[in-house]
Amino acid sequence: MQYGRLFLVGDAAHIVSPLGGKGMNLALYEADLFARAVRDSVHDHDDTGLRTYSRRCLRRVWNDQEFSHWLTRTLHDAGDDTHSGPFQRGLARARLDRLFTSRNAAGAFAELMVGLSPAPNADAQDGPGPGAGAC
Ligand SMILES: Cc1cc2nc3c(=O)[nH]c(=O)nc-3n(C[C@H](O)[C@H](O)[C@H](O)COP(=O)(O)OP(=O)(O)OC[C@H]3O[C@@H](n4cnc5c(N)ncnc54)[C@H](O)[C@@H]3O)c2cc1C
Repeated sequence: MQYGRLFLVGDAAHIVSPLGGKGMNLALYEADLFARAVRDSVHDHDDTGLRTYSRRCLRRVWNDQEFSHWLTRTLHDAGDDTHSGPFQRGLARARLDRLFTSRNAAGAFAELMVGLSPAPNADAQDGPGPGAGAC
């Protein structure tokens, strides 16, 4: 999400499937993080926020991207199988059934749906790697 002195925020850096309500929240989180990083750089001559911006964002981006993709595939494929075929429909139905029959699966879904961080203190940890430092 950074190339030299160019920083990207929101959908300019990532497109999230429009399912799961993640796109706007990600964009706001990144704008907030970036604004604080610029403030620290200008006021305190501390570039830590700018240097770590991409890594901190990408951890959440990949987590939300995966969730939105999973939810899109699950809901879109679970109905009429002329779109994706009977195999994909069967997989999607199994995922949906699991949400209604497994308390753990339902809990994990709720956490991903409303949660902000992929893991406690995630911002302080290293990012997932793919794409880190670049857009
Ligand atoms: C159908 C659909 C449903 C969605 N539903 C949800 C939802 O329920 N919840 C959720 O959280 N997210 C949802 N999203 C995703 C969410 O809309 C985006 O993730 C969010 O708007 C990204 O914000 P942004 O500021 O990065 O980009 P944008 O909101 O796209 O803002 C970019 C702005 O830049 C302007 N612009 C573009 N080019 C130029 C230029 N050359 N010069 C000047 N201005 C320019 C555009 O006109 C636009 O106003 C949905 C997306 C879609 C497509």
